[in-house]
Amino acid sequence: MQTTKAVISDGKGNYKVSTIQVGKPAEDEVQIQIKASGICHTDWDSIQNWNKEFIVGHEGAGIVTAIGSKVSKVQVGDHVVLNWAIPCGQCFQCREGNLHICENHSPVCGCGLKGHAHPEATHKENKPLERSFHLGTMSEHTIVKEAAVVKIDKDIPFATAAIVGCGVMTGWGSVINAAQLQAGSSACIIGCGGVGLNAVQAAKLAGAAQVIAIDINQERLEQAYKFGATHGIIAEKDDVDFINVAKKVREITGRGADYAFECTAIPALGSAPLALVRNAGTAVQVSGIEQRIDFDCELFEWDKKYINPLYGMCNPDRDFPRIFSLYKNKNLLLDELITKTYAMENLQQGFDDLLNGRIAKGVVIFD
Ligand SMILES: [Zn+2]
Ligand SMILES: [Zn+2]
Repeated sequence: MQTTKAVISDGKGNYKVSTIQVGKPAEDEVQIQIKASGICHTDWDSIQNWNKEFIVGHEGAGIVTAIGSKVSKVQVGDHVVLNWAIPCGQCFQCREGNLHICENHSPVCGCGLKGHAHPEATHKENKPLERSFHLGTMSEHTIVKEAAVVKIDKDIPFATAAIVGCGVMTGWGSVINAAQLQAGSSACIIGCGGVGLNAVQAAKLAGAAQVIAIDINQERLEQAYKFGATHGIIAEKDDVDFINVAKKVREITGRGADYAFECTAIPALGSAPLALVRNAGTAVQVSGIEQRIDFDCELFEWDKKYINPLYGMCNPDRDFPRIFSLYKNKNLLLDELITKTYAMENLQQGFDDLLNGRIAKGVVIFD
């Protein structure tokens, strides 16, 4: 048992830095010393809504400190990035190639903790303590499944690696894996925060001729231009049906965009990408809106596709190395996404900055 500091949610909407114990990894598990953990809207939502105690955080990078007897992917001392949709490799969806929606290990599999990294590996006051997304990255040490780690080169900064494990993967993968964007096409990106900027740079990199960034905030549009946007449109708050935005998109593209990606997590904008794509175009809901919304089925006319990929359809062992190669070739901007870093004790400042739109991405750094 190792004593370590971690951010613990109390299941009642509060959290604090506490001392916990981390055990030894089981045969298919890895113990990690976390060096960086991204701060995500999902962390805030989970603290507010999950009525249980758990270690916060699902975007992490660090150093392997111990491995189970059957682990072959990594060795002690390796640097790794973590993925939060952990494939089992055996189930129907894994065999179909849909590792991100694994029927045994994915956060959407609905199995509770069955088959996941054992909860007894982390303790508080001698009671087993769950880890957010079976990772619990806002902790100096944690235990995860071997399938949750991908080895990375040692010259990649930990903060940069940590953000690849969530927002970068989600934005980039929605364009590359889910939409399979074609070179020379046109793409709208609605919302230019941490996820949207990655959709912008993926679209540019995949060869989109027109990358149209849409936001209510001029500063965010300026940022989007730096990541490869060719056009920017300011959306007015009261134009919820995107009537004016759609008109401007048609002025740029002629018939409407080939693709539109919704990256805002605002339920009222769940149908917005449909308003921007041409007939038989592809609308992608990236942000994971789950609320009930009203919309006009005419928006689907004609032959439009609407998809909502989870986690950019992440295949971690395939996609993370690709993303880091693009980063090393200076094709993908990752360091530039990190607006600010925080000590674990200053997490509240990080949440405040995130919730008030002051940062694209904040990261907790561990000494
Ligand atoms: Zn996240
Ligand atoms: Zn599976």
